[in-house]
Amino acid sequence: MSSSHPVEDRSGEPPEQAVTPESPYAAQLARGFPWLRFEPSLEREFRQVHHGRVAVEVRRNLWLAVVFVTSFSALGYVLGPPLHADGVGLMHLLPFLPFLAVVLVMVYTPLYRFYPVAAQVGAPLFGAMVVLLEVQAALHGAGMLSTVVIATFYIYLMLGLRFYPALRSALPLQMVHLVATLAAGLSWSYLLISSVLLAFANIIGAIVCYRLEFASRTNFLEARLLTEVANRDGLTGIYNRRLFDEHMDRVWHQAARNRTELALLLIDIDHFKAYNDHYGHQAGDECLKKVAACLAAVARRPLDIAARYGGEEFAVVLYDADRNHVEQTARRIQREIEALGLEHAASSIAGGRVTVSIGAACIEPNVARTRFGFIQLADEALYEAKELGRNRLVVMDKEYARMSTGAFRRTAEAS
Ligand code: GH3
Ligand code: MG
Ligand code: MG
Repeated sequence: MSSSHPVEDRSGEPPEQAVTPESPYAAQLARGFPWLRFEPSLEREFRQVHHGRVAVEVRRNLWLAVVFVTSFSALGYVLGPPLHADGVGLMHLLPFLPFLAVVLVMVYTPLYRFYPVAAQVGAPLFGAMVVLLEVQAALHGAGMLSTVVIATFYIYLMLGLRFYPALRSALPLQMVHLVATLAAGLSWSYLLISSVLLAFANIIGAIVCYRLEFASRTNFLEARLLTEVANRDGLTGIYNRRLFDEHMDRVWHQAARNRTELALLLIDIDHFKAYNDHYGHQAGDECLKKVAACLAAVARRPLDIAARYGGEEFAVVLYDADRNHVEQTARRIQREIEALGLEHAASSIAGGRVTVSIGAACIEPNVARTRFGFIQLADEALYEAKELGRNRLVVMDKEYARMSTGAFRRTAEAS
């Protein structure tokens, strides 16, 4: 038996369990984000999701860049002077290919995690080289300003950069272009036309990039909120049966892999029908909310959850919990519910307060066992707690070995 905490393997961790269902996603949506920035923890989460989401797009767009560079270079060669005369022109785009190859390797390997930083350094450098080639071509009477416009659009729209990094990467191109045009002694009219054109390219790129990121952020918050709503019980705000089933399936396998004990506590309010009859259904609802909040407060380790199992019955899953930990947790639940001081005049239990009966199962999952049998074991324990007079805990662990019916055991074929 092991009860070392905290649990290290967090792969099956459910979303953070709030005692009150106040959603950070809903709050952020309501507050808005005109500056494209969430509160710090959501911002971190969004950036991580964004980074993963744009990977495929970035790869595709880099290949497209390879095609652009190659075809522009080929055009420069085929069309001849002045495009590749005097060591000038688009032929010189070819050296960009090794540069692109390095970035491609990065985005197809675990090095991708450095991509956001690399892109912010690489994109302005790449763009600056395009600008210099363009200015040189312009000196030879072959204005190729469109290549700088395309490079600008690429930075804003094709490299998976967020708005501010894109802005920081694209604006320097305009500066470099201005300085290079002046240094090359190109005409004022060319300077003016090219500057205005690039300014418009920046404005259009920035507007579209802002809109895209805004939509992506909205989508992120709405999707998270939807999942949250789907996993929560409408009345109490704690997890619902759907999330419980999913989580149980996940931790069951995880505990089997890690040879860790798993505990399930089924908690049922005593004489709740009588409570409803005596105080009314609304008061019953309030009572359920308070009990649920107590349970959520005890299930706070990464793989622990508290869920509403159905009606006035709740479930608490404890990962890596031996019998001792189960007993401590159950006692804490009973203490906290008692501390609520909820009067229950119609209860037969001494004290006239709201109490709960707890049935707990505590086993180490293995291939010969099923999680349905595990749940049934906790159910049997709860039944026994009720039979023994309510307001108590019954833990079953060894009993699993004696079970031989229904879903308790895997059949020979199933295992
Ligand atoms: P026991 O001590 O054996 O558990 O008795 P009990 O009266 O609690 O058990 P029983 O299963 O007979 O009654 C459960 C009651 O829970 C019946 C139902 O009206 C009430 N209940 C279930 N869901 C809700 C709910 O969402 N709100 C309210 N107010 N009551 C509910
Ligand atoms: Mg009950
Ligand atoms: Mg019940």
